[in-house]
Amino acid sequence: MKAPKKASALNEIEGVLPVQSIGAKAIANFKRIKSKRIDATEIFEGLRTGNMASLSQAITLIESTQPKHQALANDIIQNCLPYANQSVRIGITGIPGVGKSTFIEAFGKHLTQLGKKVAVLAIDPSSSLSRGSILGDKTRMEELVKDPNAFIRPSASGTSLGGVAQKTRESIMLCEAAGYDTILIETVGVGQSETAVHSMVDFFLLLKIAGAGDELQGIKRGIMEMADLIVINKADGDNINKAKLAKTEFNRALHLFPNKPSEWTPQVLTCSAMTHDGIADIWQNIMAYINFVQENHFFQTNRNQQNFFWMQETINAHLKNNFYQQPAVKQAFDELSNAVKNNELSPFVAANRLLDKYFKNINP
Ligand code: GDP
Repeated sequence: MKAPKKASALNEIEGVLPVQSIGAKAIANFKRIKSKRIDATEIFEGLRTGNMASLSQAITLIESTQPKHQALANDIIQNCLPYANQSVRIGITGIPGVGKSTFIEAFGKHLTQLGKKVAVLAIDPSSSLSRGSILGDKTRMEELVKDPNAFIRPSASGTSLGGVAQKTRESIMLCEAAGYDTILIETVGVGQSETAVHSMVDFFLLLKIAGAGDELQGIKRGIMEMADLIVINKADGDNINKAKLAKTEFNRALHLFPNKPSEWTPQVLTCSAMTHDGIADIWQNIMAYINFVQENHFFQTNRNQQNFFWMQETINAHLKNNFYQQPAVKQAFDELSNAVKNNELSPFVAANRLLDKYFKNINP
């Protein structure tokens, strides 16, 4: 960086030069993606040799709404297919403040120390509407971000949870092809995002804290039922006894749930993401699960079912998108919806009229 010659506001231009050069790099990267110069094979090859920039570029293409980018993304995914599937995919959920990012940082570091390559992705329903609240803040996971064996990608933005989930699923494949053997997918413990994450992971970990008051609330039952492991975080300092008590309560609650299709009996563990106590045990538990479901073949059956589910989801999403993009449908949509809202037309008649327009157009 060239120092300003004189302490004068006129030297401002020189002062901003380094910033411009950083910005210029990002702009060049963006232009590269935008231009036709970038080709799928080039990105794929970069990604396969462990180039994080290529992996990021590929994910950016997946997240793009431009048809040209989507076509490139599809080519890359197609190339990645033979190299995907070779990882353990772990979903991590919990209410905001439970310690998800602190946990992922500690857990991720533990895994990289064991020689693993860890990718962290996120599904954040709030990012569909505004800037995401999870993984968006650059100060989170400061250590893991610097780890050469970790790749962290904030949640994609999109108009629907389904769309965001689809992009995350495709990103998993890219990360696997890039050599990441452990994929962590974070989501907030609210809404439908757990179900989306559950449908793309091998293991679902629910983070809890003692005394949050939701131990037996019906509303959380669905999420508890999905969990393969419940971890009571923040078991440190004065909180240790409370965490132990919560462990007993959750264990009792788990007994009320029906057996899981995997035949695995979920356990409750305590940990401190801050002191790292209990982190190693969590990985042991996950490994025991993976061995168990590989032996009883649930691991593969579950992945096959997930693939089938995602095929259906993709078809549904494309059909829906195609329907709403159809000019004839678009043209009539507002008028017919208003007629329904004003009680002038039955919703079924309106829907049929729109569907008629759609089918006449695709099948004239
Ligand atoms: P998230 O919203 O679920 O991602 O939660 P964060 O990881 O941002 O953590 C929320 C707060 O809890 C932060 O102030 C953390 O420092 C704190 N925290 C996280 N894990 C622990 C832990 O194991 N022990 C203690 N005492 N505090 C923790």
